[in-house]
Amino acid sequence: MRNLIITLLVMLLAPMVANAHHVANVAEDGPKRVVVLDPGHGNPRPGKVVGKVREADIVLDISKEIRRQLASKMPDLDVYLTRHSDSSYHANQNTDNRMRAEFANSKGADLTIGIHANAIGNANVNGCEAWVLSLDDALMEQNGNRANLFADDGDALNINDLDTKSMGFIKVLTRQLDNEPRNRMFAQQCCDNIKKLGLGSLGVKSGKIWTMLYYLEGHGVLVEIGYMTNAKDLAYITSDKGKKEIATAITTSIVSFFNSLDAISSDCGTNAVAEQSANEVATPDAAEVATPDATEILEKGYAIQLISSTCEVDTMDYQFKGYKGRVRLLMGTGKYKYKYCYGSYATRDAAKQDLAEVQKTFKDAYIVYYEDKSIVTK
Ligand SMILES: [Zn+2]
Repeated sequence: MRNLIITLLVMLLAPMVANAHHVANVAEDGPKRVVVLDPGHGNPRPGKVVGKVREADIVLDISKEIRRQLASKMPDLDVYLTRHSDSSYHANQNTDNRMRAEFANSKGADLTIGIHANAIGNANVNGCEAWVLSLDDALMEQNGNRANLFADDGDALNINDLDTKSMGFIKVLTRQLDNEPRNRMFAQQCCDNIKKLGLGSLGVKSGKIWTMLYYLEGHGVLVEIGYMTNAKDLAYITSDKGKKEIATAITTSIVSFFNSLDAISSDCGTNAVAEQSANEVATPDAAEVATPDATEILEKGYAIQLISSTCEVDTMDYQFKGYKGRVRLLMGTGKYKYKYCYGSYATRDAAKQDLAEVQKTFKDAYIVYYEDKSIVTK
């Protein structure tokens, strides 16, 4: 029943969920892609410790190696690490994890990967696993969240501590429903690629509400590379060879994530930079255009162009980010003739009032004038 209510709420509220990306995602020849690597823990929390080996050190080395590999494999990708040294964001573990997500959000991350190593009482347990966020009741039940298992673990949140009727929770749920399929694809790929190295794979898991994943706005997966409590895993993940190979496995998964994102998004090029500059756009006498009410789409007027494309793109497409479903197609000229625009305004000044907000997500967005679903230039 609770899920039904939430589903209904999501359907009602989804269009109202505000965009919260804060940086541009565009570049000259396509939307700018951003990945954030989050090596878990850091001073004062080393994570799991076995002998002298600290989880925080292993995962930092691997994250740095992933960044190195991505620099040559995907030079156009923006890669950020949440930390570069043995230090965390905050003394409180939960706050620390939340701040890592906020860092990723501030960079407009398309994909964020938490990197951890596992430990358990049974030394025979081995292999990697990858976690995705799912707020599904049955899964959480299965993973013991209801039993308060994770209440005091700052890496995870307890469902009982969350107000599931709050707008914040509904937003997270909406994002989860949007992002989970691709998160699962990426998580599965990480497991498959790590398994090829000879480590075991415990597969994709969900139901534990990792704090970092909960607060993420983009896609996110948490990868546990192997068990520090298993002798074979430990020897491998602490060796230079092992670190490098695990980094390669994750890098390969990142590359195919972004390739499939582009392929799914549109099988054609998109471009968010104006091939016509704003000052080339014709400016008719504002007095000619009637003032609309807030929701009306004017037959002619001004709009804010976010992205242009060489072919048609679903207006619910991922790359519209917070403007998904809120853009409409206007036709233009040139190679990128499909123009995806937001809003309808009687005057340029009215459009200008929304432009700054749109530019928080689409840095190069600009105002166009249109008539009859076509952009009009001089
Ligand atoms: Zn950890």
